Amino acid sequence: MACSYTDLANRPVLTQPVYEAGRPIEVVAREFGLDPTTVIKLASNENPLGPSPLGLAAASRALASCHLYPDSGCTFLRERLARAWGLSPANFVVGNGSNEVMILLAQAFLRPGDEAVFGSQAFVVYRLATLLCGATPVEVPMPGYRHDLAAMRAAVTERTRLLFLASPNNPTGGTDEPARILELAGSLPEHVIFCLDEAYAEYLDASADLRPLIASGRKVVVTRTFSKIYGLAGLRVGYLVGSEEVCGLLNRVRQPFNVSLPGLAAAEAALDDGDFLRRARAANAAGLAQLAEGFRLLGLEHIPGQANFLAVRLPDAAATFDRLLRAGIIVRPLRGYGMRDWLRITVGTEAQNRRLLAALAA
Ligand SMILES: *Cc1c(COP(=O)(O)O)cnc(C)c1O
Repeated sequence: MACSYTDLANRPVLTQPVYEAGRPIEVVAREFGLDPTTVIKLASNENPLGPSPLGLAAASRALASCHLYPDSGCTFLRERLARAWGLSPANFVVGNGSNEVMILLAQAFLRPGDEAVFGSQAFVVYRLATLLCGATPVEVPMPGYRHDLAAMRAAVTERTRLLFLASPNNPTGGTDEPARILELAGSLPEHVIFCLDEAYAEYLDASADLRPLIASGRKVVVTRTFSKIYGLAGLRVGYLVGSEEVCGLLNRVRQPFNVSLPGLAAAEAALDDGDFLRRARAANAAGLAQLAEGFRLLGLEHIPGQANFLAVRLPDAAATFDRLLRAGIIVRPLRGYGMRDWLRITVGTEAQNRRLLAALAA
C-alpha cells in the first residue's frame, strides 16, 4: 500500500511555491537571543506609526462581541466604501486581506489551460493564485525592474483571463503613470479581466481612476487593502471594487464570515481617520527621502519609488540580510523574485531608518 498524501494531492498543490513572508519580531528575537523590544521589522511594508487610532479603538470595542459571528455581508463597511468611492455597496467584495480577493478572482475565472499575465517581478500572490487553479502564469520581463505595459498587452492571447498590475509594484516599488494604466485597461479584449492592485495607492499623489471604465462595462477591477497605510495588517482586511456582476460572482466563491469582527469594525473606522493618513503620508515621504539619501551616501543603487518601501542593491545581499537579522533589523531578501542582489526595505520611523543605515554602513 504505497499511496502517500502526496500521491493523492491535487496536481497544482505539488507545484505550489511556499510564500516567503517577512520574519516576525518574536521569532527572530528568540532565534538570535535578542530582546524583542529592540528588534525592528522593516520587512513587510507595515506602517511604522502603528495602527490607525480610530481603527484600533473600534476593533477593541468590537472584541466585546467576539462571541458573535461577524456580519458575513460586511454591510456597514461596504456602505462606507460606497460613500467614499461614489459607487454602490454592490460594487465591493471584502476579503481577508486583499490577497483573499485575488485568490477569489483566480478561483472564479481561471481553469487549467487558462493564462494569467503579470510582470516577472510582480507581487508573488498573482503567481500563487494562478498556479493554485492549475492555470498558466505568463510572466512578462520587466526591463530595469519596470513594467513593460506594451509587452504585457502583447502577451495577451485567446487563453488569457486575468492580467494583474500593481502600481506601485511590490517588490520593486516602481509606479506606472495613471494615463498609461488607463490606456492598457481600455485596450484589453472582452475575455480578459484587468486587476489593478492598489495596495499602496494612498501613498501616491495621483492614482488611476478606473471607475469610468467599470461604469462603461469594461472588465476592470481594483483591489485595495487596510494592511498598509491604515496600519491594520494583523486584522486582515482588503477589498475589491468592480461591477455588480463580478462582485456577485466573487461573493459565491467567498466563504461565509471570511472577515473578522474586529477587522470589519477597524476598517470602517479607519476610513474616517484622515488625520492619521495625513501623518502617515508625511512621515513616509520624509522616510523615503532619508533612505534614498542614505543609500546614495553608501554608494548603493536603489529603485526610485513612492510606496512605503525601497528595493536596494547590495553586493552581498544574502550576507547583509543575515547580518542585519543578528543586529535585530528584519528586512526582506528578494532572491525569490530572481533579485539575488537586492533587499526590500520598508520605510520605518526616522530613528529606525537611521539605525538601518548605520547597520548597512558598518
Ligand atoms: C501588501 C500587498 C497587498 C495586500 O495584502 P493584504 O492581503 O491585503 O494584506 C496586496 N498587493 C500588494 C502588491 C502588496 O504589496
